[in-house]
Amino acid sequence: MIELSCKELSSSIYDSLKEKTQKFIDKGNRAPGLAVVTVGDDEASRLYVKTKTEKAAYLGYVGFQYFLNGDSREDEVVSLIETLNRDDRVDGILLQLPLPKHLDEKRIIEHISSDKDVDGFTSANMGRMVKGEECFIPCTPKGILTILSHFGVSTSGKRITVVGRSDIVGKPLALLLMGKGYDATVSVANSKTKDLRALTLSSDIVISAVGKPMFLDSSYFSDGTVIIDVGINRISDPTRKRGWRTVGDVDRESLSQRDVSITPVPGGVGLMTVASLMENTFISRERRG
Ligand code: NDP
Repeated sequence: MIELSCKELSSSIYDSLKEKTQKFIDKGNRAPGLAVVTVGDDEASRLYVKTKTEKAAYLGYVGFQYFLNGDSREDEVVSLIETLNRDDRVDGILLQLPLPKHLDEKRIIEHISSDKDVDGFTSANMGRMVKGEECFIPCTPKGILTILSHFGVSTSGKRITVVGRSDIVGKPLALLLMGKGYDATVSVANSKTKDLRALTLSSDIVISAVGKPMFLDSSYFSDGTVIIDVGINRISDPTRKRGWRTVGDVDRESLSQRDVSITPVPGGVGLMTVASLMENTFISRERRG
């Protein structure tokens, strides 16, 4: 098993972004601004937001953080987003998901101005992406494309199975991979898919975004398969002080003696998602002039 660690790759993206940002500021330009909106006090979200704001600060971006109470009304969240849409110092608006259950995520996301939608979640961005027009590519799919390119994994003419069809990972990723330039033949599986194993066994690349630990074991993969494990799952682990650890969707132990390549969890797609967010924020800053 070959491990496709993304630590060096993400570090090199940060190094190059930091340099680009410094040069940009040295020319007298305003630094890129990233606003992060958190609603409620979800522990995992808090950690993600901390990582994102730290990375933004490292790169020399200006960070704006907003914490709204978990019982905030939809109009209060929307009002903050609209204020940020009008704020010229802000190039990217990140609404940390998931939102508390009483809020309509999809409806709220639509209020983010598409030119600041660095997550690429609005319908306007998705529509442009489908048509191959200028847009923000959603961060996790973008990170996965970067991983494939970095490790020299060509997608042209390859059979790829994407397991999962969410709006933020599976669906946009499948659309990108089947598009011109990537030219893959893509199957997208969901919870009703029959005989998933037959699909994955006949695929050159398998990308799993399901959210179930140990979901795919060795029996799902043929020799030579490139596996991108998007899943982030917490499982209990009494050997750890905190009592849990993070694993992906793939049962890695079962693959240890197999001829496959796989991204680790942690240290894989998650790192690239944040790096892609920072790339999108810089792109937004440049586009906004
Ligand atoms: P969702 O829960 O929105 O989607 C999961 C998908 O998996 C659904 O489409 C579901 O099908 C499908 N699925 C469930 N069971 C099966 C099955 N038995 N066979 C085939 N498909 C199945 O999750 P997300 O896409 O938001 O996230 C997926 C995972 O990726 C999570 O662990 C999440 O934490 C992680 N993640 C990681 C990121 C990173 O940066 N590394 C970023 C975003 C997410 P159906 O539509 O029929 O319900």
